[in-house]
Amino acid sequence: MPQAQKGSLLRVSEIFYSMQGETSRIGLPTVFIRLTGCPLRCVYCDTAYAFTGGKNMSLENILQQVAEYRPAYVTVTGGEPLAQKNCLPMLSALCDAGYQVSLETGGALDISGVDARVMRVMDIKTPASGEVDRNRWENLPLLTRHDEIKFVLCNEDDYEWAKQLMQEHQLAGKCRVLFSPVHGEMDATQLAEWILRDRLPVRLQLQLHKILWNNAPGH
Ligand code: SF4
Repeated sequence: MPQAQKGSLLRVSEIFYSMQGETSRIGLPTVFIRLTGCPLRCVYCDTAYAFTGGKNMSLENILQQVAEYRPAYVTVTGGEPLAQKNCLPMLSALCDAGYQVSLETGGALDISGVDARVMRVMDIKTPASGEVDRNRWENLPLLTRHDEIKFVLCNEDDYEWAKQLMQEHQLAGKCRVLFSPVHGEMDATQLAEWILRDRLPVRLQLQLHKILWNNAPGH
């Protein structure tokens, strides 16, 4: 397990307290740590402001800021958090501090070093995302029932592609699977109809924070 080095720095875009808007922990008050930077450029990305900027923070400062909210749940997100090497020791330090920790990752980088106590929420990028070639397929066998796979779907072709991939890799037997329509682009009701028609063992998720706060910064 990676050890936190005293004085480890991370580039942080923002730390904020809000409702978990996605995953099986939807609706739970959560502290979010958004790390700066991402090697991908998905066409629907709603956090492009986190590609650059942010500020350097020590692990100690991050832990202190998180503690001020007295949360039960902490989510590390981005950008792509795993693009920073100090993300791994930070995840372990958050678990050591007693939080229920989840990680949101785009699925292009190696997840093998992530602390086993962390719930990994890993995207599989679809063809319409523009980044399907970046999927790191070696990650799939590493997922457990503690983890979640997320497909962000742009259109019907993406839906059919995801459905086929689920069957090929028996994804529903590995972990929970989330189908999420691109906000404002794909009709969620239509997606619900397809899931029911095909009896897919997936969870339809709408992004609660966008319904509640229209994706305003800090939420
Ligand atoms: S992986 Fe996430 S943060 Fe990176 S470009 Fe895609 S949607 Fe945006």
